[in-house]
Amino acid sequence: MTSVIFTDLDGTLLDHHTYSWEAARPALEELARRGVPWIPVTSKTRAELEVLRAELGHTHPFIVENGAAAFLPHGYFPFSIPGTVRRDGYDVVEWGRPYAYLRQALRRAAQHSGCEVTGFGDMTDEEVAETCGLPLESARLARQREYDEPFLIREAGQASRLVDELRREAVHWTRGGRFWHICGPADKGVAVKELCRWYALHLGPIRSIGLGDSLNDLSFLRVVDVPVLMATAQADELRKDVPGVRIARLPGPAGWSAEVLELLGAG
Ligand SMILES: [Mg+2]
Repeated sequence: MTSVIFTDLDGTLLDHHTYSWEAARPALEELARRGVPWIPVTSKTRAELEVLRAELGHTHPFIVENGAAAFLPHGYFPFSIPGTVRRDGYDVVEWGRPYAYLRQALRRAAQHSGCEVTGFGDMTDEEVAETCGLPLESARLARQREYDEPFLIREAGQASRLVDELRREAVHWTRGGRFWHICGPADKGVAVKELCRWYALHLGPIRSIGLGDSLNDLSFLRVVDVPVLMATAQADELRKDVPGVRIARLPGPAGWSAEVLELLGAG
């Protein structure tokens, strides 16, 4: 049976602090050698993914901004997928809400709850670079949002009031490693489920493997056959929500590599 791998990036394939994937090289090479598809499932933007994909020689689809859209290289599947839009060489499937709409909803929710928030859209490239420990160019790419706004809350104690207001706005929220996110009704799980369907149509029965490290990964870890949580301080809390989850023995890309190799029977 063909394996298909779905993976979060920050804190999973990429080191939480340095954003390096170097320690995952052994597994990435094995995936390339065997032609196993691996699909980034991330809160990052398309602009950020394009840089990373060029670096990694990645040719498979990718899911951006917490499941808001899937970008399939045009003609990747030998059949057409209903509802896709052709854009810049991709067939794009969109589940998310437009960025401008989400920014307005966040501003209203912040006002009504009295909870002070700072979104990427309120920050300069320099401020995002500083907050995330990113090079300036990466911060510029991270700010090119299409469907999801990452934000920080000034007083953690006010978070529940903000969440109530976001609910009233009928928008969704989640938390990644550093940031809160406001997004449309999409989540990573919906997007991964669809991709699994298309892979099964294309390849026959597949074994889907998912790797992630945060709350915003649980939705897709719950829909894959083999869910893996990275070794973090919150893993014990998060594992309660994912039946049958494996916990990686090491954090970040080193743990990613070891788990992927073991699951492929190449460890
Ligand atoms: Mg992560």
